[in-house]
Amino acid sequence: MSGSDLHDPIVDVDTLSTQCPHCGAQDDDSFEALDNETVVTLRCDACRMPFHRLVFECSHCTEENVITWPGRPTAEQVAAARCSVCDTRFGCDDDDGRLEDQLLE
Ligand SMILES: [Zn+2]
Ligand SMILES: [Zn+2]
Repeated sequence: MSGSDLHDPIVDVDTLSTQCPHCGAQDDDSFEALDNETVVTLRCDACRMPFHRLVFECSHCTEENVITWPGRPTAEQVAAARCSVCDTRFGCDDDDGRLEDQLLE
């Protein structure tokens, strides 16, 4: 047996699917690492409407999350972004957990 089928060329960790919050169109979009943890303004290829996107890596489970808003998000909306896997809040760093542990002692 050749074993060549084990290598899947489609896998690309730098490509995430972004869903337009206006029309629901999905776009497989390569993004620069610079986009990480920054709200960027994009325009949907399908409906031509601008929207805002935040890409962040969960500080707890390292899941890459893509959050989109139809309008510019407030600081509160950005702070309310959560990991789709473990529900850890965006921007929640390990220091918070340690602080709570200390308070419990
Ligand atoms: Zn759209
Ligand atoms: Zn997570």
